[in-house]
Amino acid sequence: MSAPSLRVDLLTLFPASFDGFLSQSLLKRAIDRGLVEVHRWDIRDWAEGKHRQVDDRPFGGGPGMILMAPPVVDAVVAVRGKSHPPGRLIVLTPQGRRLDQEKVRELALESRLVLVCGRYEGFDERIIETLEPELLSVGDYVLSGGEVAAMVVVDAVSRLVPGVLGDAGSAVDESFGPDEGLEYPQYTRPREFRGRAVPEILLSGDHAAIARWRRQSRR
Ligand code: SAH
Repeated sequence: MSAPSLRVDLLTLFPASFDGFLSQSLLKRAIDRGLVEVHRWDIRDWAEGKHRQVDDRPFGGGPGMILMAPPVVDAVVAVRGKSHPPGRLIVLTPQGRRLDQEKVRELALESRLVLVCGRYEGFDERIIETLEPELLSVGDYVLSGGEVAAMVVVDAVSRLVPGVLGDAGSAVDESFGPDEGLEYPQYTRPREFRGRAVPEILLSGDHAAIARWRRQSRR
């Protein structure tokens, strides 16, 4: 089989949290068709000692646990070395640049993304200093782990991979598309629902008029 358009490597302490996400709908189809390839790696596999410890208390005190540098850095280096190119390295953190559709379009041009999911109170700073990854946030709120954030990135990026969406126009003609702004209101059957009719113009067959109406109706 030819190489996928996009390969994603997910580094996490909870690989199973992606089970449902990867086994349904659009993404599953993209994977089955060889357009997108997703690999999951358990950071704990690079941890040392009997207890394979990956986190520890913060120096200086304070709540929670911090992800230790050795297993995370070793995992990232090993995973990047498993395939060529090493991939664009992204660490998910609320301290990163906030994801938007422009960034999604940029990431969709890559052939390989390596996404590192944090947990607990986050990363030992030397992980960031050593690997110099791109820091990415999915919004100004705090999740309990980077897995949900990684799913947001993979979901948004993979639907821009050529062939993933059934209709190539779908990604153009929607919110945050090239013409800016948000999508216009959409309707499907039935023509009338609880006394609300579909706008007459959409039934007119007049494509120019419909396009004009849609431009004017963008939110
Ligand atoms: N103590 C950190 C938050 C840790 S939350 C702080 O105050 O910034 C635990 C992990 O969840 C993070 O390491 C990160 O990988 C992930 N995470 C939480 N919120 C996120 C967000 N908004 N965007 C991306 N990742 C996030």
